[in-house]
Amino acid sequence: MEIACLDLEGVLVPEIWIEFANKTGIEALKATTRDIPDYDVLMKQRLRILDEHNLKIQDIQDVIATLKPLEGAREFVDWLRERFQVIILSDTFYEFSQPLMRQLGFPTLFCHRLITDDEGRVTDYKLRQADPKRQSIRALQTIYYRTIAAGDSYNDTTMLAEADAGILFHAPQNVIDEFPQFPAVHTYEDLKKEFIKASNRDLSL
Ligand SMILES: [Mg+2]
Repeated sequence: MEIACLDLEGVLVPEIWIEFANKTGIEALKATTRDIPDYDVLMKQRLRILDEHNLKIQDIQDVIATLKPLEGAREFVDWLRERFQVIILSDTFYEFSQPLMRQLGFPTLFCHRLITDDEGRVTDYKLRQADPKRQSIRALQTIYYRTIAAGDSYNDTTMLAEADAGILFHAPQNVIDEFPQFPAVHTYEDLKKEFIKASNRDLSL
């Protein structure tokens, strides 16, 4: 049996924090792990900024609901789900991704949680586990699934390496250069072809 595992941001939807910063005009929310390498420091800063702007979880979801998946993403997910069981392995948060997942038809998603209080204020966050993408692949292997994974960035490379087949999609050139062992494609049509190639079954477009 085979399972397809996909990263979310950069593969099916835009980078959610960046788009949220664009929509709200809150420049400080554009900081990423490239600016602040310590993820906990970065997340605490993001939550403090949300607080400063008095943004409750519902306000955040309302803004994110105006975002769209990448063009062709829904069709690609539907195509993939007809041929594979599909799990999205993401470092986003359920509460953040909800409006975009709705537009993708709610495929299975493993990601993290935001903690809110009674007023809907985001007070904290909870990571599902350490190294979650790679650990998920390992877990699927223990129940004898063959895994094919696709992602766009550094945080996907341990997942791609652990999977039976790994594919880079929409990856920046530095990631492609650093990980030449993975095929790198940039369109959903080519990504379909890579999944077909990686599969041990006879699939057609
Ligand atoms: Mg990504």
